[in-house]
Amino acid sequence: MRKIPKPNLVADEVFLTCTSAIADVELKSKLEQLSASIENNAFEYENKAKIADLYTIPPILKTDKFVTQNVTKEELEDLYTKQMVPQSKPARKIYDELRSSAPYNKCPFCGFGQVNTLDHYLPKAKYPLYSVFPENLIPSCSVCNHGKSTSSAQSKEEQCLHPYFDELFFFQDQWIFAKLEEGKVEYYVDPPNCWDKISVKRATKHFEEFGLAERYSIEAGEELANIKDIVPRLFGDNFQAIKEYLIECANSSYSRHPNSWKTSLYQALAQSDWYCKGGYNTIVETNSFVAGIV
Ligand SMILES: [Zn+2]
Repeated sequence: MRKIPKPNLVADEVFLTCTSAIADVELKSKLEQLSASIENNAFEYENKAKIADLYTIPPILKTDKFVTQNVTKEELEDLYTKQMVPQSKPARKIYDELRSSAPYNKCPFCGFGQVNTLDHYLPKAKYPLYSVFPENLIPSCSVCNHGKSTSSAQSKEEQCLHPYFDELFFFQDQWIFAKLEEGKVEYYVDPPNCWDKISVKRATKHFEEFGLAERYSIEAGEELANIKDIVPRLFGDNFQAIKEYLIECANSSYSRHPNSWKTSLYQALAQSDWYCKGGYNTIVETNSFVAGIV
């Protein structure tokens, strides 16, 4: 999980850039009229996002065709798919600006995937008024974008973390850990005791929603295979030197990203006397999602 700066874009200007290339004069005109209310929607979104209350914005019903008196759900969704995504459209530069806003091009939801799309925090099928609202568009990897549930949060604790709005402690405190157990690297959630119950549930929801236990284990498996030969080459069987090296790796990773798969993996390895006393020799190549220790 990585916090990223929220976009410095004006919602109704983005909306009008999207409508500017619509060839159908009647459609363009009625959407332009809607732009007057876009700033109000933006204001509501931002105020609710700041206190993690976006779940209180009602989704549109599946059976509803119209969002306003004369604008349909499909017309608003098309503003994104037909006016913002295509390379030839003027709003594409906004899409590119948003997509490139994640540091190191890393997905803020999982922390390690490569950003290659934009995710609608509130899905456009259920919240079409926010289909091109910049603060609802978050740079994302395709796995996070397609893997998450399409159901709407019904309560505060069912909401995933919002990389633009959620409080710093979600990103600066360590709440994802790993353990070496029964030949597997297992990732789990263990937030600090000072966190309130809702924050704990939201972090857990985020961890489960994006499948981080399995996806982190896959990364860990390859890392274990990578360091299998390096450790004895550098340190022989010097238990203490191996432990100190692993602690340094963990600390270095922690300083940049406390909840990365790498931070908790190296912490778990450093804490495992079994691993430091030669357990690294038992690593085998595997295509299983567990880390491949036998
Ligand atoms: Zn991701």
